[in-house]
Amino acid sequence: MTEELRRRVRDFLAAHPFTPRCDSWAGSYDLDFSRELGKAGLLAVSWPERLGGGGGTAVDRLVVTEELLRAGAPLAAHWVGERQIGPTLLRHGSPELQEEFCPPLARAECTFALGMSEPDAGSDLASLRTSAVRDGDGWRITGRKIWTSGAHRASHLYVLARTSREADRHDGLTEFVVALDSPGITVTPILDLRGEHHFNEVVLDEVAVPGRWAIGRVGEGWRQVVGQLAFERGGPERFLSTYPLLSAVLAAGLVDDTARRGLRALAARLQILRAWVLETAQVLDAGGSPVVPAATSKYLGHEFELSVIDWARPLMPRATPAVRALYDQALAASPASGIRGGAAPVMLSMIARDN
Ligand SMILES: Cc1cc2nc3c(=O)[nH]c(=O)nc-3n(C[C@H](O)[C@H](O)[C@H](O)COP(=O)(O)OP(=O)(O)OC[C@H]3O[C@@H](n4cnc5c(N)ncnc54)[C@H](O)[C@@H]3O)c2cc1C
Repeated sequence: MTEELRRRVRDFLAAHPFTPRCDSWAGSYDLDFSRELGKAGLLAVSWPERLGGGGGTAVDRLVVTEELLRAGAPLAAHWVGERQIGPTLLRHGSPELQEEFCPPLARAECTFALGMSEPDAGSDLASLRTSAVRDGDGWRITGRKIWTSGAHRASHLYVLARTSREADRHDGLTEFVVALDSPGITVTPILDLRGEHHFNEVVLDEVAVPGRWAIGRVGEGWRQVVGQLAFERGGPERFLSTYPLLSAVLAAGLVDDTARRGLRALAARLQILRAWVLETAQVLDAGGSPVVPAATSKYLGHEFELSVIDWARPLMPRATPAVRALYDQALAASPASGIRGGAAPVMLSMIARDN
């Protein structure tokens, strides 16, 4: 299955031209490309067939995503929905919620943004203030989410909100699906340092959400979201964002003797990271929540990506504009890669506590 899948992805990429980009899972958005991937059966390969998936495993998904990321293909449109919302629904959602959202997610007809962080709740997510109160059979959600990547393009928002005040603030949180075209939602752009628009602030003012759109058990959101972070942090995007730069430098013949020595070390570290995420995927397939292994690959992946940029820097004076553009993309994304999905020092303290 694995080699056949790899070949299918390569054939797909050859038949669907695009401009390779570094950080393409976060920064390269092409909804048509995502939908073509869905039609080719290359999204949601690990989900059950009855819910629009491929009936494969997390290891199969790893193979597909590795190929797509290495090529620098535009993946941002479907990434959040396919990487973590679908799997969260499969683990915790009611059968009704799974049937409503998984098939359109697998076709990239429904796309998600992540509404976790708030102005005073990032690393310390449990201090979030967004609240959901009962309203008949449904809920009304009020609050302010920030750094919400892609909310200006997505159809739906995942929201973590407080549904009750408990002695332990990790209790009383609940996960929701919210339609981004609901009355009461305001999405305001936040431009990044380059003036590009990926982030948003999303204000929710008594937004009505049907009761069936609560994910899993009301008040159990913290336990669920901790498991979800394994999907968010444990994949190959944490170290392959700069791979298009690495491969373009090689293809352009820019590697001198010094760079060749550095390349050997990078190749070895890449193999270690690949083995690590393979093991993480195997734990997911066994029904586990590899939260700490995922934090480890996120931390080490970021360090690896910084090393790729450092390795490529001295070669840039001889680079073509196309290779230089990949370097600029990698460099511009590098400060954020240590923060998004969890800041590097926080990953380190999670790993240390586990030991
Ligand atoms: C490119 C990018 C995309 C993002 N996309 C999204 C998104 O789509 N949805 C979403 O919900 N969020 C998103 N975020 C937000 C991201 O999850 C938060 O920025 C991150 O969790 C850190 O939270 P914070 O910004 O509030 O920083 P803080 O939590 O205030 O932390 C600031 C710094 O303090 C240090 N620190 C904090 N706590 C500790 C600790 N316990 N131990 C050691 N050091 C600590 C860290 O160095 C950290 O960098 C995105 C962020 C970036 C950069």
